[in-house]
Amino acid sequence: MFKKILIANRGEIALRIQRACQELGVKAVMVYSEADRDAKYVKLAEEAVCIGPAPSPLSYLNMPAIISAAEVTDAEAIHPGYGFLSENADFAERVQKSGFEFIGPTPDAIRIMGDKVAAKQAMVQAGVPCVPGSEGALPDDPVQIGRIARAVGYPVIIKAAGGGGGRGMRVVHTEAALINAVQTTKSEAAAAFGNPSVYLEKFLQNPRHIEIQVLADKHRNAVYLGERDCSMQRRHQKVIEEAPAPGIPRRLIERIGERCVAACKKIGYRGAGTFEFLYENGEFYFIEMNTRVQVEHPVTEWITGIDIVRTQIMVAAGEKLPFTQRQIELRGHAIECRINAEDPYKFTPSPGRITMWHPPGGPGVRVDSHIYTNYYVPPNYDSMIGKLITHGDTREQALARMRTALAETVVEGIQTNIPLHREMLVDAKFIAGGTSIHYLEEWLEQHKR
Ligand code: ADP
Repeated sequence: MFKKILIANRGEIALRIQRACQELGVKAVMVYSEADRDAKYVKLAEEAVCIGPAPSPLSYLNMPAIISAAEVTDAEAIHPGYGFLSENADFAERVQKSGFEFIGPTPDAIRIMGDKVAAKQAMVQAGVPCVPGSEGALPDDPVQIGRIARAVGYPVIIKAAGGGGGRGMRVVHTEAALINAVQTTKSEAAAAFGNPSVYLEKFLQNPRHIEIQVLADKHRNAVYLGERDCSMQRRHQKVIEEAPAPGIPRRLIERIGERCVAACKKIGYRGAGTFEFLYENGEFYFIEMNTRVQVEHPVTEWITGIDIVRTQIMVAAGEKLPFTQRQIELRGHAIECRINAEDPYKFTPSPGRITMWHPPGGPGVRVDSHIYTNYYVPPNYDSMIGKLITHGDTREQALARMRTALAETVVEGIQTNIPLHREMLVDAKFIAGGTSIHYLEEWLEQHKR
C-alpha cells in the first residue's frame, strides 16, 4: 500500500478521499487554491500545499504545480477525484512519467473514452449495445450524410466526438435541416473542443439515464456494482440519483453488467469507471464511459457495502479486488440529493458566507460535505456544496428518510436548491419511480415562478 497520496481536487470529494486515506492508514497531502485556504480538509490535513490563485486554470488545472506539490511532499500517487484533471489523458501520462502512480485507468484508456467516436467503436467491438447511428465520424459528402440519416431514421442527434458536459449536440427532425445542423455543430465543435469531428445517432424520445459502476484491478479481474438511475437532470446535469433503478428487471441489469465487465477485460480497464446508457423500451444504449469516480458513487457504496474510493486506491497500489462478482449483493435502496449553492428556481449561483449549517442525522442518513458554519463558498468553482444520501430497506423507506433529512437540514446565509429537492420528494410521479431524462425540466417548465 502507498504511504502517501496527493489529492488533486477540492470540495466534498477532496474530503471524501482524505477520509478513505485515513481509514487505510495512508497519509494524504491536500492541495488548495488561495480561495480554499480555509477548507475543512485543509485545516484537518497533516500536509497541505497551496498550488495557486483562485481561478482553476492557475491552480486545480495547473499540472506543473500539482506535480511539484507531489514531488516536494514525497507522495507516491495522485488521486484526481472528479472534474478538473480527472479525465485528462495528458495529465495521467505526465503523472506517470514523473514517477507517480495515477489513481485511475491508463492514459490510453482515458484517451479512447474521451473521444466519443473511438469509445463507441471500442464498445461495438466489445459487444456493448450502442445507440444506432453512423459508424464513426460523419463524412464530408452531403449525399452520404443524408443516406446515413435516412437509414438511422429521424429524429437524429448530431454529436461532437470531443464533446462533454452536455455541450456540442443538436437534434434534427427533418432531412431539410440536416446538412445545416451538421455544419453548425462542426464549427461549434472545432471552436469549443478543438476537434471538428461529429457523428450521428438516433435521437431517443423518452429514455432514462441508467449507468453501470465497474471496478477493475491490474490482474484482469473486473466486477460491476449494479446500476444507478440518474434520470433526474437539468441541462444534462444530474440532480437526484438512486440505486437500484426502479422497475428494471434484474436479469436485464445482469446482462448489461456482464457486458460491461467483458468490455473492461477486453480493453484492459483498471480502476473505477462508469458505463452510461440511455434505457428505453427494455433496451440499453451506450452513450459514454466516465473513467473516474463519480459524484453519485455513495448510492452504490450503500447498497453494495463496498467502499469505491478505498478500492480505487487499493487496486492502484496493485492489490487484487477483494471480492468476486458472486460476493456482491445488493441490499435495500439509496437516494442522493446534490446540494447546490444556487437559487432553487432560477438556478443562478449563490456563493457567499454560510452563517448557519445544521446537517441532518439519524438512521440511514449520510452527509458528504466540506461546509461548516461560517464557511465561505467561493464563487470560482462548481456550485455543488455537498450531497445528502439516505438508505432504506425499501425505496419507500429511503424516500421517507430523505424527506426527514431535507426537513432537518439548515443552510443559512446563501441560497440552496434544498427547497426544490423537498418538492421533488413529494412529487407523485417521482415517488412512483421510472421518470425519463426530460421529467425534471418538464416539471420546472410547468411550475415556473
Ligand atoms: P456529455 O458527455 O456532454 O454529458 P452524453 O453523450 O453523455 O454527453 O449525453 C448527455 C445527455 O444528452 C444524455 O444524458 C441525454 O440526456 C442526451 N442524449 C445524448 N445522446 C442522446 C440520444 N441519442 N438520444 C436522446 N438523448 C441523448
